[in-house]
Amino acid sequence: MSGLVVGNATVKAGDRTILNRVSLTAPKGGVTGLIGPNGAGKSTLIAAMLGLRRLSSGTIAFNGTNLPGMVPGERAKLCAYVEQSATTAERLTVRDVVALGRVPFQTAWQTMPSGHDALLVQAALEAIGLSAFATRLYHTLSGGEQQRVQIARALTQEPQLLLLDEPTSHLDIQAQLLVLDLLRRRAEAGCTIVLAMHDLNLAARFCDHLVVMQAGAVVAQGSPDAILQPDLLRQVYGVAATIVRLPGSAHPIVVYDRAETDAAAAKLD
Ligand code: ADP
Ligand code: MG
Repeated sequence: MSGLVVGNATVKAGDRTILNRVSLTAPKGGVTGLIGPNGAGKSTLIAAMLGLRRLSSGTIAFNGTNLPGMVPGERAKLCAYVEQSATTAERLTVRDVVALGRVPFQTAWQTMPSGHDALLVQAALEAIGLSAFATRLYHTLSGGEQQRVQIARALTQEPQLLLLDEPTSHLDIQAQLLVLDLLRRRAEAGCTIVLAMHDLNLAARFCDHLVVMQAGAVVAQGSPDAILQPDLLRQVYGVAATIVRLPGSAHPIVVYDRAETDAAAAKLD
């Protein structure tokens, strides 16, 4: 099928199983949210998709091709990745960092981005509201600004598959909405998007499909309406919550009531 299909993916670190027979589908042209508490395995799963963590068993395929098994340079032509926190040691300008998204498409002897590449870089900077930052040195930016630069870099790559690990964790509310809206539009244009996130209300609003992880396993997947239920939130997060729906709104809203201390204590064991 088209899109990303993970089948029984298992990842071990020493004798510890970090991902345990994870299976999920992220449909082409959809936004799939990976949710679940800290340590559930979201980042490990994304790293495994990219071949950065070795599968001890199972398969990960994008449009039928073994994604982690691809040569990195070839994979970069179809798949972009935004890390949980990206640093670069070099003194690059914001424009240079965004232009890194075009490197997979450039020839070895090319020293300057092509005119087409420069247009894509400019368009991404504008879309994400960073045109005024183009000549700033990347390492002088705030965490949220750097995060937007990394998302612009990934968009400039024009990927068919976009993997983002908590891409809005450092962003103010306006930037969160702007970025998620941009991602939605990319999905509507055919990109398959998978993103790990913590904000369940933003997940309900921007994702078509949610995959819930807990302790290295997938415990549920489906539409936000089907997934965001009080029993599941108690079981997975140890939180008592009420689900409300505003008149005319298409999305459920999660109102957190309290941490369930029994569940919180069990988590610390
Ligand atoms: P999430 O992104 O959902 O917060 P991670 O995928 O980062 O979770 O981590 C999942 C679990 O695997 C955590 O308990 C983490 O401590 C553990 N883990 C990750 N990498 C290693 C490693 N190299 N060795 C041992 N444990 C690891
Ligand atoms: Mg993580």
